[in-house]
Amino acid sequence: MTTNPSLSIIALMTLLMCLTPTLIKSQEGIDVLLPITLNLTVLTDPFSISAASRDFGNITDVNPGAVLCPSTPAEVARLLRFANGDFSYDSESTTSSPGFKVAARGQGHSLRGQASAPGGVVVNMTCLAKTATPAAVVVSADGTYADVAAGAMWVEVLEAALARGVSPVTFTDYLYLSVGGTLSNAGIGGQVFRHGPQISNVHELDVITGKGDMVTCSPKLNPELFYGVLGGLGQFGIITRARIALDHAPTRVKWLRILYSDFSAFTRDQERLISMANDLRVDFLEGQLMMSNGIVDTSFFPLSDQTRVASLVNEHRIIYVLEVAKYYDTTTLPIIDQVIDTLTRTLGFTSEFMFMQDVPYFDFLNRVRNEEDKLRSIGLWEVPHPWLNMFVPKSRVLDFHEGVIKGLLLNQTATSGVTLFYPTNRNKWNNLMSAMIPNEDVFYVVGFLQSAGGSHNFEELESLNDRIINFCNNSGIKIKEYLMHYTKKEDWIKHFGPKWSDFSRRKMMFDPEKLLSPGQDIFN
Ligand code: FAD
Repeated sequence: MTTNPSLSIIALMTLLMCLTPTLIKSQEGIDVLLPITLNLTVLTDPFSISAASRDFGNITDVNPGAVLCPSTPAEVARLLRFANGDFSYDSESTTSSPGFKVAARGQGHSLRGQASAPGGVVVNMTCLAKTATPAAVVVSADGTYADVAAGAMWVEVLEAALARGVSPVTFTDYLYLSVGGTLSNAGIGGQVFRHGPQISNVHELDVITGKGDMVTCSPKLNPELFYGVLGGLGQFGIITRARIALDHAPTRVKWLRILYSDFSAFTRDQERLISMANDLRVDFLEGQLMMSNGIVDTSFFPLSDQTRVASLVNEHRIIYVLEVAKYYDTTTLPIIDQVIDTLTRTLGFTSEFMFMQDVPYFDFLNRVRNEEDKLRSIGLWEVPHPWLNMFVPKSRVLDFHEGVIKGLLLNQTATSGVTLFYPTNRNKWNNLMSAMIPNEDVFYVVGFLQSAGGSHNFEELESLNDRIINFCNNSGIKIKEYLMHYTKKEDWIKHFGPKWSDFSRRKMMFDPEKLLSPGQDIFN
């Protein structure tokens, strides 16, 4: 058997670090010794530090003092108790509180350093998922839920559930995100209008609070912590286990893309489908824009139609793509074509611009992986991503379209990346949770998923983002940003609005030393 020499060196360094106190630099620049008695697997080698200092956004670079690779939740609890000033592990210490910050990191797919801990300790949640017993994902005997290590990725949850013929009901577009990471935001995608975001489909959580207490919570048990943590941006505790709702899994998907040149017809049909009037039982609904000043990706469409679609985009400058999916399996196979027929007959598009693929359920949910592979192959994955995501109230979506899409985006010389545009229902969200959405029954998910690189200059993309936000502010369009990163406290207070007092009260209850997820810049 051959051994990778660099892996042996890392293993040796890890062993040495376990045997000697680890020196880390706290945020205040004070050196802190993590005593051996804490019994932690802490890494301070350049590779581990560098990997934890960057994220998918590729905009920030924030070095932690150390990375914890825990094999049990108890290790995380010990670290947090020590960070709070519990010196029972270190009788010689004289300081009152070490003062270093702690951030959980799932897949590090944040955009602007939200999973960072400057000079503090980043907790690598994948370590916990790898050592979870009996497994990172355990599907219940009756198949109605799975207990999942929070560092596991959604693709792992899906694979384990499908092996038992069941599946989570609501997904993000991209599955290589950690369960703890998306539950700290909301976890949204094309199933939200029907099932709600991922935070609405959790029965129970195990959380280690900022004080280092290990607490199980649910709507009935410690509800304050449960609701706080869901959408709580990592501020109140580190989720170690989540009990995720599951349902019967279909086997295949009829996946449609329908093209519109008229924005009103596009949104009317989208809203009709999510209203579930005459319930057509659509399982997935999203939408995106194709613009002549962007890369027109026609790969979904049959080869023979790709030129026709590209010409349509050039002719109209902008085409709205309604994306809808209907799941089926052997029991629903006999009626699926009839269902699709009924569905499409109720919509207001020109029939020659409807396209359909018939794909396995897993491939449909995993569709963004292909895009990732394509972007990686041309060096456009590991570039800066100044993404802007927001929720726009339905009552102002026409103004938003005029001012932002036509007024700003279409007037750019070139746009980069995908623009998502689809409505969803407020009644599938639970207002007790920390996540913020507009105060209207229907609101739109809008994502400007731009990549800098090639001819796209980062500063220009940032300036476009600023102009979009300014337009909304000046026009009184009450958007709520998603995956946002504010640096001013007043912006956070405005974001949380009526929920700010609960949010800050929960911080005092569960993380009074304000140690957790400092990269969100809320309480620093
Ligand atoms: P990280 O970046 O590691 O962490 C995010 C935040 O959560 C940090 O503050 C961190 O401290 C905290 N955190 C992480 N784990 C825990 C835990 N166990 N307990 C407590 N706090 C924790 N989002 C959607 O909703 N829908 C989408 O369709 C979608 N698509 C995406 C596609 C791509 C290609 C990318 C890069 C991102 C996408 N996102 C989407 C955004 C994604 O949901 C968030 O960035 C999410 O935080 C990523 O999970 P992560 O494991 O990488 O989190």
